[in-house]
This record gives sequence, structure tokens and C-alpha cells, in this order.
Amino acid sequence: MSNIKDLIIIDGHSDYPIQLLRARRTGNKKVIETDHLPGLKKGGVCFETVTVGGDFLLGPYEMRDPFNTLRAIDAVHQEVTESPDILQLVLKKSDLDEVGRPGTHSLMMALEGAAPITEDFSLLRNYYRLGVRALSLTHNLRNIFAEGCGEASSRTGLSLLGKDLIREINRYDLILDLVHINERGFFEALELCENPVLVSHSNARKLCNVFRNLTDEQLKAVAERGGVVGINCAGFMIDEVFENQTVQRLLDHVDYMIDLIGIDHVGYGPDYGDYIMDYIDEWLNRSSMAGVRVQYAIGAQEISATQVFVAGLMERGYTETDIRKIMGRNFLRVYREGLPD
Ligand SMILES: [Zn+2]
Repeated sequence: MSNIKDLIIIDGHSDYPIQLLRARRTGNKKVIETDHLPGLKKGGVCFETVTVGGDFLLGPYEMRDPFNTLRAIDAVHQEVTESPDILQLVLKKSDLDEVGRPGTHSLMMALEGAAPITEDFSLLRNYYRLGVRALSLTHNLRNIFAEGCGEASSRTGLSLLGKDLIREINRYDLILDLVHINERGFFEALELCENPVLVSHSNARKLCNVFRNLTDEQLKAVAERGGVVGINCAGFMIDEVFENQTVQRLLDHVDYMIDLIGIDHVGYGPDYGDYIMDYIDEWLNRSSMAGVRVQYAIGAQEISATQVFVAGLMERGYTETDIRKIMGRNFLRVYREGLPD
């Protein structure tokens, strides 16, 4: 563990509820506490923003289906009920005051892709009532709201329905995550959205030229709005050469982004999926990423290795204040701005 006392580490993007659905289907309970928390503790992570639905199909779970999204939301609530002294659901600003209390772990629910909203915005309102506090508009592929970043077309961004959705989002205390959307949609959404924005898990395209990473213009635009970009540990977003997908190369992205947009706008959104690799390979073949070999940052392949990343920041000369911002405080700032009272 790093010697920074009481360091709050926020994982800005975790797909863990997919694993929850799988484990709970076979009758398991307290899955987060039993299976997930030991690794999180070892990594020093005390907060996760978790995906409870979105534009993807993983194994038997078609998460575009509102029913499965409701099941994932229920699974998170059940887990919180089963481990009441440990798990805390983040729903409002004051819940953030509890983050990092020894022995506790905080969760905030998010949608990764707006497909589970369908054309019926009452679903969005219901997800909000059930505790969803952030959402992105797409995954890599297009949906009825917008064009995903994995689509070849750059002629279109938001659909008319997508613009209506942003106006609806503006009526609620919801954080807009501009991850996975194509560039045109990104800027259109940024202009229409009045709420706090962030990009939960993307790196710099200048250092690794893949469609999932952000251009300099996008990085600057997020910072200008006071937002945060979470650094992603997925190898294919770190370097185009498989063998170079290392923690050190990931730290180059941190350096690059901080040089470009400042220390207040970079966070940690590692996107580890090591616990669902069987699903991920199958899913990649169906998405726009067939043939991509998946690994996580060499040297830090799972969430329990988060301290390797922290140690790397220290070695590169980041101060304690800097590291507190990168590892948690920057995301906390945007969450505080976006959550209801
Ligand atoms: Zn993602």
C-alpha cells in the first residue's frame, strides 16, 4: 500500500454487476463482499461507479433489455442490503462524505449506453428513481440516440431522439459520460448538455491511435467544462503493440493528458474485466473489435494491482496532492457537482 495516508481511490468505471448477475443466478449472496472486495481492498479502491445496463450483450445477458438492467440494479441493491455495514450506495451529495470510511465500499450506478431507455423516457426516470446517477449515450456501435465511436460514419452524431434525451437528462441530477460516442456526437452532446460531464474510461489517441481513445480536442473540451477523463487499463487502448501495453506506457498517457489539460482533469477508470474474460472474447467478436487481443496493463492486470499504478505516479514525481486528485478527488469533484442534494 502506498504511504499516502487515507488515499481515496475511485474506480470510475467497473462492469462488475455483470459478474453479480452470473453469480447470483446460481444462488450466491454477498458476492461483492466475498469475491470482489478482497481485490479492491488490496488495491486500496474504496469507490466504484458500476455499470448496471447498457448497449452490450455479455454471455446470456442482453443488457439492452430493460428487464436485465432492472435485474442488475436489483442485484446491486440486494448486495447492499446483504452487506449493510460495508456497502454504501451513492445517491446524493452527502453520501460522498462517507467515501473512504474504513471498512466501507461505495458504489454508484451508471448505464453504459442508453439503449435500455428505449424510446420511452419514463424508463430513464425510473432508473433514476432506483439510483442510477450517470450514463453514456452509446457503446461502440450506434443506437437510436447516437453514433458509437466504433462506427465508420462520422457524418452523423446525435439523432433527434438523442437530442431529446439530453434535454431530458438536463432535467435530472444525472452525470453525462461521453465515453464510447463518436466525435461528432461527442461535441453535439457537450453543447446541449447542461449537466456535469466526464469521460469515465478512455486514453489519449495521440499516444495510441485507436477509435476508443480521445483526440486532443476532445480532451481539452472535457477539461474546459470542468470534467474528468478516467485512464483505462485495457491494453489495446494503451499501445498499438501488444508487448508495449505496460503500466509505464499507461503512465505516459497520464503525463500526456496532464500536460495538455491539467492535473484537475485526469482520473482513474481502469475498466478491468479480468473476471469475465470468457464473455469479453465472445463479445469482441460480435462488436466492432473482432480480432483484438485483450489484456490489461502489463504489470497491473487486475484491480488488486492498483497500487502499482500509484507507485508509478510517485516514481514520476507526482506530489501527494497530485496523486490524491488523479486517484479520486477529481472524480469526487464532478460527482459532487452532479449528484442531487
Ligand atoms: Zn466501456
